[in-house]
Amino acid sequence: MIACQSGLDFSKRILEELCKTKNIKINILRWREICNNKKIKRHDNGVSYEPIQDCLWPSSKLSKLPEISAYVEKLEEIKGKKVYYCFRNAGYKYTAGIFSNLVNRDIAEEEFLKKGIAITQNIQEHKGLYPLGYNLTPSLGFGSFCATDLNISNTCPIVLWWGNVIEKGNELDCWYPLLPRRISAKDINPFDADWTLQEAEDDGYDDVFDTCPDCGCGISLRNDGGNGFCIDCAWNH
Ligand SMILES: [Zn+2]
Repeated sequence: MIACQSGLDFSKRILEELCKTKNIKINILRWREICNNKKIKRHDNGVSYEPIQDCLWPSSKLSKLPEISAYVEKLEEIKGKKVYYCFRNAGYKYTAGIFSNLVNRDIAEEEFLKKGIAITQNIQEHKGLYPLGYNLTPSLGFGSFCATDLNISNTCPIVLWWGNVIEKGNELDCWYPLLPRRISAKDINPFDADWTLQEAEDDGYDDVFDTCPDCGCGISLRNDGGNGFCIDCAWNH
């Protein structure tokens, strides 16, 4: 399990209170922890804050860009009051995190945010859907930035997962996800109690359009590594 600190602290507080009455000790096991405590405390001698932010959190340098300030205004309309912590204060010493440096972090966050806003403007309203991913309260989005080989959380930036890999004539056609899904065919779902062998749908997933220069296999949507190589070789490049 991957846990974010904000959610972990919240769940722990609630659970510990309940468990205290029954004399139960709880321990929440997790494989990785996402550092996302954004709270900034002001004291007489300055401020204290968590410099490591694993979730994408756009720089305050972007707050004046028209499309971004207009989106924040819209959020405040939805919420009915000011939305705090939209931006990472560019004057504070936050770390680059997974990025090679802060400049590159700023670039990725800016582009993901701008494109995410553009996508939300092309589709109908979805409660809780924001440019940098689903969130419980109005914000630019949760911004988690991790995926497994099997799935990606919808709390990640929408440019990573929103959209159709093959056009389907619905609102998802407006974008091609940067981490294209590989849908498992219904006919191999072992968890489906009503399982019957079906003819696989001809959805174009297996149409070969390229050859992997490393291993020579045919590349289709099912095994496209996204960088000109197949999924087994892509990580080498
Ligand atoms: Zn290959």
